[in-house]
Amino acid sequence: MLGLMMDKPLLISSLLDYAARYHGGTEIVSRTVEGPIHRYTYSDAELRAKKLAKALQALGVGEGDRVATLAWNGFRHYELYYGVSGMGAVCHMINPRLFARQISYIMNHAEDMLVFVDLTFVSMLEDVAPEAGSVKGFVIMTDEANMPEISLPNVYCYETLLDVQDGDYEWPQFDEMTASSMCYSSGTTGNPKGVLYSHRSTVLHAWASTTPDMLGLAARDAVMPVVPMFHVNAWGLPYASTMVGAKLVMPGAAMDGESVYQLIDQEGVTFSAGVPTVWLGLLDYLERSGKRLNSFERCVIGGSATPRAMIVKLQEEYGVNVLHAWGMTEMSPLGTVNWPKHGMEDETDAERLDREVKQGRPCYGVNLKIVNDANESLPEDGEAFGELKARGFWVCSAYYRAEGEGHDADGWFSTGDVSTIDADGYMHMTDRSKDVIKSGGEWISSIELENVAVGHPDVFEAAVVGVAHPKWDERPLLVVVRNEGSNVTREDLLAYYEGKVAKWWIPDDVTFVDELPHTATGKLLKMDLRDSFQDYKLPTA
Ligand code: AMP
Repeated sequence: MLGLMMDKPLLISSLLDYAARYHGGTEIVSRTVEGPIHRYTYSDAELRAKKLAKALQALGVGEGDRVATLAWNGFRHYELYYGVSGMGAVCHMINPRLFARQISYIMNHAEDMLVFVDLTFVSMLEDVAPEAGSVKGFVIMTDEANMPEISLPNVYCYETLLDVQDGDYEWPQFDEMTASSMCYSSGTTGNPKGVLYSHRSTVLHAWASTTPDMLGLAARDAVMPVVPMFHVNAWGLPYASTMVGAKLVMPGAAMDGESVYQLIDQEGVTFSAGVPTVWLGLLDYLERSGKRLNSFERCVIGGSATPRAMIVKLQEEYGVNVLHAWGMTEMSPLGTVNWPKHGMEDETDAERLDREVKQGRPCYGVNLKIVNDANESLPEDGEAFGELKARGFWVCSAYYRAEGEGHDADGWFSTGDVSTIDADGYMHMTDRSKDVIKSGGEWISSIELENVAVGHPDVFEAAVVGVAHPKWDERPLLVVVRNEGSNVTREDLLAYYEGKVAKWWIPDDVTFVDELPHTATGKLLKMDLRDSFQDYKLPTA
C-alpha cells in the first residue's frame, strides 16, 4: 500500500520559491567585480533568475544542456545557480584557478554549450575558447557600461539579456533525479573528473546542512560563503541559506583578511565557511589592526586540516565557535562536521581540543567506514587507520562519462583519504592515501606533522613530504615558510616536535622556502613538492 502524501519532487527552484515567498525582503549582498557593493532581496533574485531562465530558452538552451560559469561569489552567479538548474539545464561551475589546458579539457568533456564569465576571467577565456569546440556563445556577467573589448564570437551582455525578458515564468516540474549541476574534482593526479549532482541530492544536502549538528543555519543568520561557488558549490551554502531564508553575503574576488573582515563587520555576518588559508589571513589582519569580531558566531573550516592553533585563537581570543568539517566535491561536499555529543559537557579544555582537531562525525544521510588494503573493515577505535569509504544520499554514484572509477563493486565510494574513526563516530583524517609517509612498513601522517609545525609561532606555512631513505624506505622532510622577519632554525623546529608526536615520526630534516605550491583549490600541491625534493639527501640517509 502506498502512503497518501503529496508527491512533490525535490527541485532546486523550490528553494528560491520558498525564500522569495517567506523571506522576500531578506538581503543578498555582493561585493562586485566592478567594485561597488550590490544589494537586493530574495524576491528580486527570484524575478531575475526567472528572467535568466527565459533568456536561456531564447538562446536555445534546453533540458540537460550544460551551461558553464567562470565566476566569483556574487549575485549573478547566484542567479545562474537557480536559473540554469531551475529550467532543467545543468549548471557547470568551472574552477577558474585551473590551468587553461585543464579548463578546455573540462569544457570539452562536459560539452558545455554556453559559458557565463565574470569580467576578471575574460582574457583567460579568450585563451581557452578556441580549444572548447562545443561552446556556442559567451555571456559576460556585467552591464553594457562595463562590457569589455573581446575577441570571441557570439558574445552577449548578461544585463542586456535579462532586460528584454519579463520574468513571467513558472518553474517547470520534473523528476527530482534530473541532473542539476556539475563540478569537476580538482584532483592532484590525472584529468579532473566530473561530479554530476541531481536536484534531489542537492536539496537533501542543503536540508541536512541546515540542521544543528551540521551547519545549523537559520533565518536569523547572515551567511558569508568565502568558499568559492566554483568549488564544490560553495559547500552548498547558496542552497542551504536560501532554504532557511538567511541573509547572504558574497565576498566576490576579495578574500584577503581585511576585505573579509569588512564584510563581516558591515553586514553583521554570523556564519562563514572557508579553507584554513582564509582564516589565517583574517587572523593576521585582526592581529595587525587590533580589530574585534562582533557579530561573528560560527565558522566552519574545512578543505584542509584545521590546525589546533587556529581553533584556539579563533575560539579563545575572538569568541568564534570553530567547526571543523570534512567533505569532497564527490560528496556535495559535506561528509562530517565536528559538534560535541550529549555526555561531552565535562570535557576538559585539552580533551575538547583533541576532539575538535578531528574532522567530525557524519549526520543522517552519510555512512563512513575505514578499510585496509584488502578492503576489509577496520575497527573504529580511534587508533586503526585505513582508507575512508563513503556512501549516502549526496555521495556520487559514478563519475560523469567515467563510470566505474572510484567505486567498489558494492557501491562504496573510495575517498582517497586515510583516517581513523573512533567509537563515537568521529573521523580523524590522517592523510591522503598518496601523501602518507611509509617508514619501515609503518605509516606516518604528513598532516599531523604539518599541524604541529604550524603551531610554532615562527611558522607561516608548512608541508611534510616523504623522501626516499635507504633503510626506512621513506622518511619525513619538513618544508617551511617562515613568518616575516623570523630566523627560526632547523634545530628549533625539530625540538618543537619533542613530546608532541612519537619519536620516530619526527622529521629527519627541515628545509626553508619562500612559498609553497598550492592546487587550484588552495590545498598544498604535494605532488609538486615530492617532485622538487625527489633527490633530496636526508642527513640520516
Ligand atoms: P575537494 O573535492 O577539492 O573539496 O577536495 C576534497 C579533499 O580535501 C578531501 O578528500 C580531503 O583530502 C581534503 N579535505 C577536505 N576537508 C578536509 C579537512 N577538514 N581536513 C583535511 N583534509 C580535508
